[in-house]
Amino acid sequence: MSKSAPPKSPQRSTGLSSAPPSSYTIDCSNGLIHPADQIPSPNQDARPDGADPALIVLHSISLPPGDFGGPYIEQLFTNQLDPDEHSYFAGIHKLQLSAHILIRRDGSLVQFVPFGRRAWHAGESGFRGVPACNDYSIGIEIEGEDRLEYSDHQYSALVGAVAALIGAYSELNVRHIAGHCDVAPGRKTDPGPAFDWLRLYDGIASRNPDSE
Ligand SMILES: [Zn+2]
Repeated sequence: MSKSAPPKSPQRSTGLSSAPPSSYTIDCSNGLIHPADQIPSPNQDARPDGADPALIVLHSISLPPGDFGGPYIEQLFTNQLDPDEHSYFAGIHKLQLSAHILIRRDGSLVQFVPFGRRAWHAGESGFRGVPACNDYSIGIEIEGEDRLEYSDHQYSALVGAVAALIGAYSELNVRHIAGHCDVAPGRKTDPGPAFDWLRLYDGIASRNPDSE
């Protein structure tokens, strides 16, 4: 109630006129990707063993569900979501969540947590017998819904970001990418059946042939 109202228009200026950049750079000294809007989330901490990330977990999110382009994902990940703004928000505004990056529908990136730090995205989870995926993974949220096609710009940005991550962190490769649905089966469904895994794999292979 005391919080400032979000913009009336869901359209925000991202400085991105059309297509997302074809490639991204990652500075391993600070764990930041460029170009991206940097919106630090308080929902992060140190990785327990200080190890480099060894897994990428893909998610989808939309707030409220089915709506795109609003400021609400950023507000959720910075603990600024107003429970009075929408009935759905009352049930989630106290969750302390984050992801390393968000890919908006237009393909623009927001980074909330440096890659060397632990973001709080996967919850109770495991990958190939190793529990607690947050400890050793990078969480990427794609703005969307399980059953709605993701945008061309999002695939382009995702391929570029994942290729950059694989180039930056030696533990990462195409076999170390999973959906939230895979690391938390029965509990989570994202990024859902609409997500085209082959398009991701083919895109990475065409950019980063050594990663196979
Ligand atoms: Zn998820």
